[in-house]
Amino acid sequence: MIDPALREVALATKGFMPPDEGDALYEAAMLAGGNVPSLNMVEVGSYCGRSTVWVGAAARSCGVTLYAVDHHGGSEENQPGWEWFDDTVVDAATGRINTLPFFTDTMTRAGLTDAVRTVVGDSAALGHQWGEKLAFLFIDGGHGREIARADFAAWHDHVALNGIFAIHDVFTDPAQGGQAPYEEIYLPSVSSGKFREISATGSLRVLLRVA
Ligand code: SAH
Ligand code: MG
Repeated sequence: MIDPALREVALATKGFMPPDEGDALYEAAMLAGGNVPSLNMVEVGSYCGRSTVWVGAAARSCGVTLYAVDHHGGSEENQPGWEWFDDTVVDAATGRINTLPFFTDTMTRAGLTDAVRTVVGDSAALGHQWGEKLAFLFIDGGHGREIARADFAAWHDHVALNGIFAIHDVFTDPAQGGQAPYEEIYLPSVSSGKFREISATGSLRVLLRVA
């Protein structure tokens, strides 16, 4: 279990990670760190750093770095007029979403600035340039079909054998949520034969790299 003080920081942070799924995410990252010691971790889609506290705490306790990837401009559904818009993350000077100051503040409050490296940019572009194998990959980025498909293509193969790939917002039933993470990330991962599902908590799916 994550340090209760860090869990409090996560729960006090804006974002979209339910507590039980955050706890499962922490356990998944700890398992990855045990399976594949000394390789680093990546989170795609950090927003204000809520999920990052759970994964960053695991990275620190495994003695590795978590790279937290986000352009910090918000996803489609975070924009004005959409379901998940929060006007407090809009930068008054530009009128655009900028979650980077909130993210930085969260990492500071959590004391995770050493364990977590902030990587600002487009996730697919970064994934294609990525040069190291990963113990743990967590994708919770854009939920449009094109972006989800691009994230899958750019990132999944960086997971080392016996490493863990966690995917958020996987809904098998369209009545429960958007289908892009399910159809463009989860299904291709499993059908590739490279990953086997080992647990599910809410919309969080945890896959083990088996081939
Ligand atoms: N994990 C967060 C929620 C992430 S919301 C939590 O626990 O609360 C999704 C995030 O993905 C947003 O911050 C958005 O800026 C980011 N995002 C969406 N598309 C992206 C892309 N193509 N490149 C980088 N970041 C992206
Ligand atoms: Mg999510």
